[in-house]
Amino acid sequence: MSFSPRKTALTPGSGAPKPRSKGTPDNPLAAELTRSLGPRKVLSNPSERRNYRYDAIQFGATPLAVVLPENTADVVTAVRAARAAGVPVVGRGAASGLSGGAAPALPGLVLSFTRMTRLEVFPQRREARAQAGVVTLSVTEAARPHGLIYPPDPASFRTSTIGGNLGENAGGPLCFKYGVTGDYVKGLQFVDADGDVYELTRDAYDLAGLLIGSEGTLGLITEATLRLTPPPKYTRTLLASFAEVGECAEAVSRAIATGAVPAKLEFMDAACTNAVEDYLALGLPRDAGAVLLVDTDGDDLETVEEERALVEAACREAGGTVRRAATDAEAAALWQARRSVSPALGRIRPQRMNEDIVVPRSALPEVVREIRALGDASGLPVVQFGHIGDGNLHPNILFDPRRESSEAVHDLAHRIALVAIRHGGVLSGEHGIGTMKRPFMREAVDPVTLAALWDVKRALDPAGRLNPGKILPDEDVEAHAHP
Ligand SMILES: Cc1cc2nc3c(=O)[nH]c(=O)nc-3n(C[C@H](O)[C@H](O)[C@H](O)COP(=O)(O)OP(=O)(O)OC[C@H]3O[C@@H](n4cnc5c(N)ncnc54)[C@H](O)[C@@H]3O)c2cc1C
Repeated sequence: MSFSPRKTALTPGSGAPKPRSKGTPDNPLAAELTRSLGPRKVLSNPSERRNYRYDAIQFGATPLAVVLPENTADVVTAVRAARAAGVPVVGRGAASGLSGGAAPALPGLVLSFTRMTRLEVFPQRREARAQAGVVTLSVTEAARPHGLIYPPDPASFRTSTIGGNLGENAGGPLCFKYGVTGDYVKGLQFVDADGDVYELTRDAYDLAGLLIGSEGTLGLITEATLRLTPPPKYTRTLLASFAEVGECAEAVSRAIATGAVPAKLEFMDAACTNAVEDYLALGLPRDAGAVLLVDTDGDDLETVEEERALVEAACREAGGTVRRAATDAEAAALWQARRSVSPALGRIRPQRMNEDIVVPRSALPEVVREIRALGDASGLPVVQFGHIGDGNLHPNILFDPRRESSEAVHDLAHRIALVAIRHGGVLSGEHGIGTMKRPFMREAVDPVTLAALWDVKRALDPAGRLNPGKILPDEDVEAHAHP
């Protein structure tokens, strides 16, 4: 079978908009969906549809129709209508994504999962079954009365959805000890490009694992079975300050070498700390070159405090000074600082490009320094923070589109990606590739591996209809097309 998303999915088909009379869908796809699903589940009005062309970082094409499915059967109906119309399908949760994943590359169908919010907790099995549109935080809120939590904790957890979390394999500060979204998925249901429904467990071939992190390019996840755990009984928090980031990375390596497994290890550079301090005045050390926020946790208080002591000692040996959070309120204030990075940066420039590189921890000091130098040379403010325990760094390029050219921003993003690649790292730890990092994929992934990724895409989405224009560079379709 030949495969050419350029000719098929990337070309809007019979669904192209036509002039319309008021109140009538202006294209055949919207008309068909309104007929089959009813007007309550379909947005066909152009001004409504325009609201579904972006995520948190990128604008895309206005969809021809937006469907708000309430169950898997609605998803099947919508996907089959899109197939008949020959147009692409893009899944969308809360659109908080930071790589352009939910922004359609072409006009087509957007499936917005926000009405699929059924959530059931099974305490005996320590499981929850969630529809794709369930907000991340709701899972823990529903589980807590049963003495359970759902650990994956992206900073966006008050708005992001389970479908979007699975789409990106989202992580958060807790991922160092507890893992990322995929580690909590016991099974999932998805709808393929033909509208067929699959019920998967984490078995041989782990097809569910393939869907997780595939950014809606291999299938549309409709439900997932999630693993719940009891919360740790005790948590201890500390803030360490360092003259420079090398000391901070050294402290983390030393701490981990002791055998301690902190729950959270979060790094902020001086620009980041000062941005948060300007915003909230929490008493963070403005003169520190780098700060490290650490939680140790567990059910045995002695072990938790022992681990904290080991981390403290490692920080001091590396040249840092340590402040313990004496109360829960103090610990909450310190974590509020970390959670407030996004709004704090928004006060410096209205927009930002949030990179998400992962590099070996030993390379972090050099990587942070190189990125700082690139930022200085470009004249664009660059702020760095991240989950340092995993080597996951978020260099944020701050910009004002009225004053700063998008070419300059993209050029800097590219240079930052190249720093990660040169140091043996990867483009994304948790935000996905989307459209934002897709142009760098050729430099990050060797041709043989890219061809294998295309083989996977072809196997599950032969017509290239699922979220085209994401992750995989197109030219490879032609280079590696099979007769
Ligand atoms: C302030 C802020 C802080 C953030 N912090 C973090 C963080 O700490 N860690 C982190 O990992 N991310 C973070 N993010 C990024 C973002 O919140 C996550 O990627 C999140 O998982 C996206 O969820 P969503 O529901 O908004 O998905 P969307 O943005 O709507 O979609 C994300 C991707 O998943 C696909 N998708 C959506 N639903 C489905 C579905 N049902 N089936 C298949 N594919 C689907 C989309 O097509 C898209 O490719 C942050 C974002 C913001 C704005």
